[in-house]
Amino acid sequence: MTHGLITDAQNTWCQGCGNFAIEHAIKDVILRLEAEGTPRETIVLVAGIGCHAKIADYLNINSFYALHGRAVSFATGICMANPDLHVICCVGDGDTYAEGIAHLLFAAKRNVNMTVLVHNNRVYGLTKGQVTPTSPMEYHGKSNPSESGEISFNPLELLLSAGCSFIARGYTQHQDELKELIYAGMSHSGFSCIDILQICASFLDKTEEYDEQVYVPANHDPEDFDAACRLVREYMYADSGKIALGIVYRVGRETFHVGTPHQQQEYSGKESFVRRFIDGRR
Ligand code: SF4
Repeated sequence: MTHGLITDAQNTWCQGCGNFAIEHAIKDVILRLEAEGTPRETIVLVAGIGCHAKIADYLNINSFYALHGRAVSFATGICMANPDLHVICCVGDGDTYAEGIAHLLFAAKRNVNMTVLVHNNRVYGLTKGQVTPTSPMEYHGKSNPSESGEISFNPLELLLSAGCSFIARGYTQHQDELKELIYAGMSHSGFSCIDILQICASFLDKTEEYDEQVYVPANHDPEDFDAACRLVREYMYADSGKIALGIVYRVGRETFHVGTPHQQQEYSGKESFVRRFIDGRR
């Protein structure tokens, strides 16, 4: 039962793509939030450019496409204009860890109140398989018939360094855990980022490796920054290493729209400012 949350748009994702798991996890979290009293119309989805971004067509909620790599900055504008909205930002690894990396890190640094879901299939799927910042070193893609030869960077380590107040890792084959992580991220006050290991069935299917490597740490304290640093370094986005799933780090911190003096005005004041601006241009 989708309660009208899945649209009738023709779905062009490949069979077996992890995007389906993310789409349905978001759908179930929205239904849960609705049942708890959050109106659907207060939830806004911003998508980047890539296979993942078609989710904006497939989920029946308020949504926008942003330019490639600019989804987080676009979403920041929405958060600042109306802090009462719940903003989800769906981005790809090529989209946000390459083009958009500065926007991602600065939104984390500022603790802008949004939830970023990185559909991290570790390849540019829409354009048929080029290397992204988290592609494995030995990956052969259309743009690199021999190994890429580049080390992957570790996005969770970068986010920790940037001051991100909520960091988690999910996996598209672990649907129930993924839903809990998205719900926890959306319930967090401030910037939350979930790196989702997503299966790309067509260009980089890592199901077998991930199934062997993922685990949920038994005694990890997400409020312990040093423990979070150690945990994210267990897996450096090369093929070896245990891959911890779950909430890696979570800390309470003032959000940007509360902590910044020029943002402390009431939303109603902003609304009348925007109205005067629009009227002045008529
Ligand atoms: S190319 Fe990969 S990421 Fe894109 S729709 Fe197909 S399986 Fe999914």
